[in-house]
Amino acid sequence: MNTEEYMKQADQYIVHTYNRFPIVFERGEGVRLYDTDGKEYLDFAAGIAVQALGYSCTELKDALKDQIDKINHTSNLFYHVPLADAAKKIVESCGLSKVFFTNSGTEAIEGALKAARKYAWLKDGRTDHEIIAMKNSFHGRSMGALSVTGNAGYQDPFRPLISGIRFADYNSLDSVKALVNDRTCAIIMETVQGEGGIYPAEKEFLQGVRKICDEHDILLILDEIQCGMGRTGTLWAWQDYSVAPDIMTCAKAIGCGVPVGCFILNEKVAEHSLEPGDHGSTYGGNPFAARAVSTVFDIFEKKDIVGHVREIAPYFEQKLDGLTEKYDCLAERRGKGLMQGLVVQGRPAGEIVSAALEEGLVVITASGNVIRLVPPLVIEKSDIDEMAEKLGKAIEK
Ligand SMILES: *Cc1c(COP(=O)(O)O)cnc(C)c1O
Repeated sequence: MNTEEYMKQADQYIVHTYNRFPIVFERGEGVRLYDTDGKEYLDFAAGIAVQALGYSCTELKDALKDQIDKINHTSNLFYHVPLADAAKKIVESCGLSKVFFTNSGTEAIEGALKAARKYAWLKDGRTDHEIIAMKNSFHGRSMGALSVTGNAGYQDPFRPLISGIRFADYNSLDSVKALVNDRTCAIIMETVQGEGGIYPAEKEFLQGVRKICDEHDILLILDEIQCGMGRTGTLWAWQDYSVAPDIMTCAKAIGCGVPVGCFILNEKVAEHSLEPGDHGSTYGGNPFAARAVSTVFDIFEKKDIVGHVREIAPYFEQKLDGLTEKYDCLAERRGKGLMQGLVVQGRPAGEIVSAALEEGLVVITASGNVIRLVPPLVIEKSDIDEMAEKLGKAIEK
């Protein structure tokens, strides 16, 4: 079959929830992708901030092949080796206490919400607890995760959602304070908003929210699904804020392409929330997924990926600032580390993204008017130069 035929077949049989770009990718190597016509692309999207190590990482592939040869699934009724390894590495990386593995980010959010409600229920027995979430946020599409996603367009067709969710303005401490009451059990937010348009939390805001949580024994849930795993220059984005969450959610880059997520509880929550029978997953943290997480952590350490991000990020920002200065249609650059957004004015960001694809550069949008750049964390300066050149050409088209 040719490219045209693959797309036609997919469109015939797949529920139309995505407007896909007319490209059929066939393989990837490092920071490059290749389509079925053999065209090469420089990838600054990384499968939406997933492929932190780039494509076809030999060490990761070898570990996964080895795991398939041994065992790829056992259920959570038994122990297995990769689970013990992955759990230790991810918990020790953040200084929290206990992890539950899921198959996606959305499920990590579901578990985090359940843990928070159970914690509060054990404390006061009430069944009307509230959760404060942020406007413009994104946490996933299942009924629970959607309920805390501050986007009316995503929510409205699916009401009624779960009850007791209140929305505050991101980076406005007063708006959070105004919603706190004796029913509030948790505050959930992304440390850097991704889908909403790449907005980093301000330091005073996150620290202020932490303080409110401490004063009222409210649990702070930080969603690190997109901004975590080294992307912003620290392993977890909150590690740059001198605060820690009570619960953290992770996914995307922790499996570097293997579908896996997790939520991690601090000691207080781990001791006083989910108990046997409260939560479960058939696949969650299975040997294949856990081996991926464990190996990704090994590679991050061996290659000092986070150090590399810190070293290269200023150059990335400088190049993007150069583009913002040069082109009137770019209003602003926002972001942290290798999670950056270019705010487009006067024309749709999607138009530039499509032109970039023609130039052989993969970038994506966020919130309609932002070009989102979330490249593999292993990019080099020459890749950044090439990105800037191609994006410039795309803008001029
Ligand atoms: C992608 C994302 C999710 C949802 O993760 P899935 O793996 O798509 O279920 C949740 N929160 C944030 C911040 C995300 O970027």
